[in-house]
Amino acid sequence: MDEMRLGRTGMMVSKLGFGGIPIMRVPEDEAVAVVQKCLDLGITFLDTANAYTTSEASIGKAVKGKREKLVVATKSASRSREGLERHLSMSLDRLGLDYIDLYQFHRVDDFKSLEIVLDRKGPMAVLEEAKRTRVIRHIGVTSHQIDVAEEAVKSDCFETLMFPFNFITCEAADRLLPLCRKHDVGFIAMKPLAGGALENVIIAFKYLFQFADVLPIPGIEKPHEIEQIVKVLQGSRDMTDAERTEMQRLKDELGSRFCRRCDYCQPCTQEIPISTVMVITSVIRRMPPELVFTGIFADAVEKAANCTECGDCEERCPYRLPIREMLREQVQFFQVAKQKYDRSMGT
Ligand code: SF4
Ligand code: SF4
Repeated sequence: MDEMRLGRTGMMVSKLGFGGIPIMRVPEDEAVAVVQKCLDLGITFLDTANAYTTSEASIGKAVKGKREKLVVATKSASRSREGLERHLSMSLDRLGLDYIDLYQFHRVDDFKSLEIVLDRKGPMAVLEEAKRTRVIRHIGVTSHQIDVAEEAVKSDCFETLMFPFNFITCEAADRLLPLCRKHDVGFIAMKPLAGGALENVIIAFKYLFQFADVLPIPGIEKPHEIEQIVKVLQGSRDMTDAERTEMQRLKDELGSRFCRRCDYCQPCTQEIPISTVMVITSVIRRMPPELVFTGIFADAVEKAANCTECGDCEERCPYRLPIREMLREQVQFFQVAKQKYDRSMGT
């Protein structure tokens, strides 16, 4: 498989990586088998997170004996020194590794979080010490908010940036990629299929593979999914005229109903985490039900019930999304899925 250099980490990684969210949904033997399939196909970059329940342990089992050739990345959303220390030690334990190649600050989506992670006396101190002692090799950051991501890159404190990038959420192409190149920060593309909204794998990956220094990390649950993407990588990556036309059609169709999670619609007077509610359909498809129907997603749906329909958020959304209508749809989808889940659990 083709390789690329991951920014100033200097690490060479396969041109396609593995995203560790969907393996949470399957039994461990299937999860391990799908990771092994990816390794057999030549993938050398594996991404997971402390928050992805069983994902780290499954990846750990799959990489046993092959670790030297691989780049293993994980992340923590903790914003305290103690929390980060605990997560790092937990990640090492679950992965069964004595070092992690790339450790990332997870979901740095607002300036307050960025300030906390940049504070040399805060959680950054834990990662810098871990880097000094070679427990981790590189420090990265993940974000969904482009203004925050820009500042993170400019700080020169991170060696990689993970950000959503696909032909619909394509703002990174103009605003982040040139900046990452200037600062030699490796760019990792999360959500290459827009969280499941893009079903045309060929077009989605032909779009991304045109960027030589972008590392897409699709979330993979089944072996055929990765086989399909590898085929795109190994075939002609040029888009045909018909594919270009179809890409434009999809952009027109989905673009007006697709939340980029930029949070420009905030603040909501009812404190509704709009962008979290907007991804409910996608997370229900990708995450284990026990994570979706409790915690932040369930809380977000509960808050969405307080929407006064004032419409202020729609004025602020740069994509002019019909937020009120979309929130109602997402809440309804959540409720139907939850009822089904409760019935299956006999509750
Ligand atoms: S319409 Fe609803 S979600 Fe939007 S700002 Fe008003 S209360 Fe918040
Ligand atoms: S609703 Fe609009 S402004 Fe709010 S996060 Fe989504 S795309 Fe951004």
